[in-house]
Amino acid sequence: MTGKILDGKLFAAQIRGQVAEHVARLKGSHGLTPGLAVVLVGEDPASEVYVRSKGKQTVEVGMASFEHKLAADTSEADLLALIAKLNADPEVHGILVQLPLPSHLNSDLVINSIDPAKDVDGFHISNVGLLGTGQKSMVPCTPLGCLMMLRDHHGSLSGMNAVVVGRSNIVGKPMAQLLLGDSCTVTIAHSRTSDLAETCRRADILVAAVGRAEMIPGDWVKPGATVIDVGINRIERDGKKALVGDVHFESAAAVAGAITPVPGGVGPMTIACLLANTVTACCRANGLEEPAGLTA
Ligand code: NDP
Repeated sequence: MTGKILDGKLFAAQIRGQVAEHVARLKGSHGLTPGLAVVLVGEDPASEVYVRSKGKQTVEVGMASFEHKLAADTSEADLLALIAKLNADPEVHGILVQLPLPSHLNSDLVINSIDPAKDVDGFHISNVGLLGTGQKSMVPCTPLGCLMMLRDHHGSLSGMNAVVVGRSNIVGKPMAQLLLGDSCTVTIAHSRTSDLAETCRRADILVAAVGRAEMIPGDWVKPGATVIDVGINRIERDGKKALVGDVHFESAAAVAGAITPVPGGVGPMTIACLLANTVTACCRANGLEEPAGLTA
């Protein structure tokens, strides 16, 4: 028996459809076009692909896309000046600085210079604090996408045992906060967790955000559990390049109740949630009701 495959590609397309409807309504009824500014410093090829994809999808849902490509040796002062300009620009509702930044730039300082109301990545310390205290915030896109998929599959998550493997600020910690917010009993596991296999076996919801190819085998998965695989790992298999998650898909799918594939699971949800966050930011900035179902 194989668990249900949670199709992130399909779900992300539905989210983009909802975003496009809200954008059309904001334009038609309020003369507002939500705008997303993406700042890329340097020429990291993977980052360039992400930024292109974000720009394309932003335009496809009817929003304005502002791309700022800066040289790899851009000074911190120049980058902060650009962010200050974007913070003050009423046509820009969301600002995303593509990470990682070149090493001479202080990422924390740069991220915390973004107006928290425009921080559509949800990494500003104010948004981290708001999320941690259960207040309205901008929620990091990848964990938001995971939460949406879980809610869609289960309805209520209340009382479920959730295990998040990974404690990064970008995925693991905000994921744990969101699950706690939905009344799960949450365990955060990491590289020093003493018995990771046993910890995982207790999970009704198992979220893997590690970055180690196929490290979670099927016999770590509780029968019937829902497995959310955030990992994106590039490997060589049979002489070919392949993309795999942190979970060994075939063996886990055989015992899980539901599982996200890689690719086509969590990945597509991230940009969809970025677009959703930009619409939410635009509504909040203009005192309008936020779209239901697109926020945590
Ligand atoms: P980080 O490298 O920042 O964090 C990895 C976490 O995994 C750390 O907390 C680390 O523990 C933990 N870890 C490492 N080795 C082990 C181990 N052997 N056992 C248990 N835990 C371990 O990664 P990110 O959170 O940024 O990303 C995680 C994965 O998700 C990556 O594959 C990344 O590519 C992917 N990703 C996917 C996205 C998407 O859109 N789908 C978006 C963002 C990330 P410790 O803290 O103790 O070192």
